[in-house]
Amino acid sequence: MVFSALSEKLQDTFRRLRGKGKLTEKDVDEALREVKLALLEADVNFRVVRNFINRVRERAVGQEVINSLTPGQMVIKIVHQELTGMMGAKAEKLKTSDRPPSVYLLAGLQGAGKTTTAGKLAGYLQKQGRRPLLVAADVYRPAAVKQLEVLGAQLSVPVFSDPGRDPVAIAAAAVEKARQTQRDVVLIDTAGRLHIDEELMGELAAIKAAVNPVEILLVVDAMTGQDAVNVAQNFNEQLGLTGLILTKLDSDTRGGAALSIREITGCPIKFVGSGEKLDGIEVFHPERLASRILGMGDVLTLIEKAEATVEAEQAKALMKKIQKDEFTLEDFLDQMRQVQKMGPLDQILGMLPGLKPKQLQGFVLDEKSMKHIEAIIQSMTPQERRTPQIINASRRRRIAQGSGRPVQEVNRLLNQFEQSKKMMKQLGKIGKGGLPRLPFW
Ligand code: GDP
Repeated sequence: MVFSALSEKLQDTFRRLRGKGKLTEKDVDEALREVKLALLEADVNFRVVRNFINRVRERAVGQEVINSLTPGQMVIKIVHQELTGMMGAKAEKLKTSDRPPSVYLLAGLQGAGKTTTAGKLAGYLQKQGRRPLLVAADVYRPAAVKQLEVLGAQLSVPVFSDPGRDPVAIAAAAVEKARQTQRDVVLIDTAGRLHIDEELMGELAAIKAAVNPVEILLVVDAMTGQDAVNVAQNFNEQLGLTGLILTKLDSDTRGGAALSIREITGCPIKFVGSGEKLDGIEVFHPERLASRILGMGDVLTLIEKAEATVEAEQAKALMKKIQKDEFTLEDFLDQMRQVQKMGPLDQILGMLPGLKPKQLQGFVLDEKSMKHIEAIIQSMTPQERRTPQIINASRRRRIAQGSGRPVQEVNRLLNQFEQSKKMMKQLGKIGKGGLPRLPFW
């Protein structure tokens, strides 16, 4: 998981701080030294780290904190605020043009994930009720045009290409086409190079001049760390960017680019991408990410994901069952299938408050483990599924044999079932108290 090492270290530091009744300046300094090291190890730019530490220190050694009844908590609050500010404070929306179509130009080095992101963004915009047109303006790599066409077909979004012409003419013709066919967003996928060169910049500047994009978005690979930051700085100076899209956050374990790129370039991160599937794109919320890093969870994103995947009616029916204590192993199986649709389980659980990254290791809910769970549940009698309390040792052995799985796995599944029943009851109570309910667990 991204930021797992950083998150682990910061949470350890703050756990120690929280335990103290009173904080001295020395305590704060010691904690901040650890925070600084953790950030540097996460590959955050040293200037960004220095500024951040100075800002936190200035606020944390103030009377307000030292005299507070919960000084540790106050320091964490300050760190949370400053971490959020470092990443841009609040989520930034995509601009739209007064006269449609709104043209979004996507730039980036080869392999950054530009074409994939163009597809993801088209899918995202379509879900928002927009009518995107994808444009293949990479005339050097025929494979890139094909790749975009495949993505467009999956989304039922039209793709404009005209390989015989130059990228500027293609972009201009595409905007005209969008106007004629009532497409209100034009997403232009441009060519990438292995390195920044004059030709690439010249071509992008020419497209920019021809179609006057309302957004110039640079797609950068988060895994490349400080290189990504340098690339962004360079593009911004030469082209003038309106926003950044960080890709491959799923494979980036350190998180240095995400934490430094905003402060160094001044450009907002508008989206983050993870995974190769078309729904792997999220609006970037600095505050939520800061919460995730500090182990406070990210319940808002979790709820949004749940709402996007889980049918409201189904969720309501499930809540009723839980309240009436009628939740069965079959419902449990249904639920696991729903959760699986929301994305990798370790990422989903990582959004719950209070769980340490280490506790999430080994949590995978892949096709194979789903099949095993299904086999176990199917080897039970209908009565056992409805009232699992009756499943004694000999029944467990029979179920294990029937499903071809070890008895320990049957035990584990029954434990998980009991646990999630408990957790759901608790969450159901929170729901009644006014907080939004989670339609699963
Ligand atoms: P382009 O050259 O910039 O257009 O890059 P592509 O869109 O062709 O992507 C390069 C590779 O990165 C492909 O194998 C993509 O599937 C993969 N990729 C793109 N975005 C992501 C992401 O967010 N996460 C992961 N894990 N892979 C990605």
